[in-house]
Amino acid sequence: MKEVIIMSRVYNFSAGPSMLPEDVLKQAQAEFLDYNGSGMSVCEMSHRSKWYTDINDEAEALLRELMGIPDDYYVMFVQGGASTQFEAVPLNLLGKNNKADYCVTGNFASKACKEAKKYGDIHEASSSKADNYIYIPKQLDVRPDAAYVHITNNNTIFGTEYKSAPDTKGVPLVSDMSSDILSRVVNVNDYAVIYAGAQKNIAPAGVTIVIAKKSLVDEDYTLPYCPTMLKWSTQAKEHSLYNTPPCFPTYMAMLVFRHLKKLGGVAAMQKYNEEKAAILYDYLDSQDFYKAPVVKEDRSMMNVPFVSPSEELNAKFVKEAAAEGLVTLKGHRLVGGMRASIYNAMPIEGVKKLVEFMKKFAAENK
Ligand SMILES: *Cc1c(COP(=O)(O)O)cnc(C)c1O
Repeated sequence: MKEVIIMSRVYNFSAGPSMLPEDVLKQAQAEFLDYNGSGMSVCEMSHRSKWYTDINDEAEALLRELMGIPDDYYVMFVQGGASTQFEAVPLNLLGKNNKADYCVTGNFASKACKEAKKYGDIHEASSSKADNYIYIPKQLDVRPDAAYVHITNNNTIFGTEYKSAPDTKGVPLVSDMSSDILSRVVNVNDYAVIYAGAQKNIAPAGVTIVIAKKSLVDEDYTLPYCPTMLKWSTQAKEHSLYNTPPCFPTYMAMLVFRHLKKLGGVAAMQKYNEEKAAILYDYLDSQDFYKAPVVKEDRSMMNVPFVSPSEELNAKFVKEAAAEGLVTLKGHRLVGGMRASIYNAMPIEGVKKLVEFMKKFAAENK
């Protein structure tokens, strides 16, 4: 085969879609035209073929192993992104007594809550909106008869993160882990449902992971008008093959899971991510040119927002950083400034290079 020339790759700090491990991209490239002797691409093959059902099975088995998902949970690979699960969660669970509680800790949390309000009696168990979401409220006002409590594990835009599952006093906990799944060890048993879009920490957009307690799905608390496609029981029973699944993103997810396993699993990733985040936060804490708005104890290990002294300098920062191969650092419009997303696939070298650039930029623009 002809040697492929790889153009110089940048350090991409995008909040999502974001970087994928280079080994995984190369593997996908190597088998893109002929997957496993099939003579065709994963993009071209039947989802009922043995090649694909093997991918589907291996992806699930590896995710179970990496996260320590117990046997009494279903694992599903579905379409529609995390935003579709904002609908699916109430549609699958509100049948119990029509009540659910939401923790409003950011933009996606607020969107999830807004969708649920279309279907039932929704109560805000906590909110940090009045402080522009710079912290995670520790006190939850949970109704004991709520069908579930919903949290957003990591607030991608505002850069806050739950360090552990909050105490919901026995009410089933549903967590949107789109932007921190597989970044650190979690005890799956603390959650009734975990869902995540793939494009932050796993794979290209297109596949969404749903991990749900079998008892909750089997007891069937779905609202009567829940669309078949959004019903977890449909997807679980058909082993994510009810209709044509997102084959290629699921295959990419499988490659990423293999890669994570080779690196030592989620515990090893957590150690690496802690090291990366510390480099950036330690620097931010050591100087007064940049400000990091988030309350220290709630800082996200994945998304790090910070601002320079002025709008002009923010724009200049983003432009000059890009010229050095540090790209997509512009902050979300709701926060402004900059945001460095440092998911699993961001190498530590990228974070070190960013901090070196930050130091130089501060010195030149003081
Ligand atoms: C990106 C993101 C979403 C939206 O995901 P889609 O797959 O684009 O629908 C939802 N929640 C969180 C926490 C996110 O980071």
